[in-house]
Order: sequence, then structure tokens, then C-alpha cells
Amino acid sequence: MAGPVPAQVYREILASGPCVYCGSAAEHVDHVRPLSQGGWEHESNLVPACEACNLSKREKLLDRWVPERVLHGVLASVKVAIEYARVTGAELEM
Ligand SMILES: [Zn+2]
Repeated sequence: MAGPVPAQVYREILASGPCVYCGSAAEHVDHVRPLSQGGWEHESNLVPACEACNLSKREKLLDRWVPERVLHGVLASVKVAIEYARVTGAELEM
């Protein structure tokens, strides 16, 4: 699972912007692809998220979660866009 992420990296991701899924203030760091679904403990899989989004998303893959929040995430974060394309098989146009 790519090893532990330094606490400094977590702090930087948390500070990197509002929640990628809804734009509220970020209080959590979300694993875009949940660890239980094969996601990596790695910077490339971590995004800032608000508590409400993180607790709602939990272990869900992006195609199993609130479409409006997923779309917001796809537009706000390349990491989310890449994972969304992976789960749905959609073509990425960037
Ligand atoms: Zn949110």
C-alpha cells in the first residue's frame, strides 16, 4: 500500500484547498480510492475533503456515491478525475 505518508504531506493536502467534492472547508484527508478497495496510502490518492463528504463517501468507489459531489470532485481535482475514469471506463479529455 505504498507505505506510510508523512504527517507533513497530510498537512499540505489538507491545506491545499477546500473540499474537492463540495467546496466547503476541508477538515479531513480523503482517500479517493478507498484503502479497502485497493487504494494506496500515497499522496496521489489523497485529497482535501470536508467531514460531511468524507463520512458519507467512506468505503464507496466514485460510481457508488452522490453523483453531484463526484462531478464536483472530477472538476476540482485531477486525482479524482483519474480515479473516476478508472472506475467508469470513461475517456479522459483534459
Ligand atoms: Zn465536502
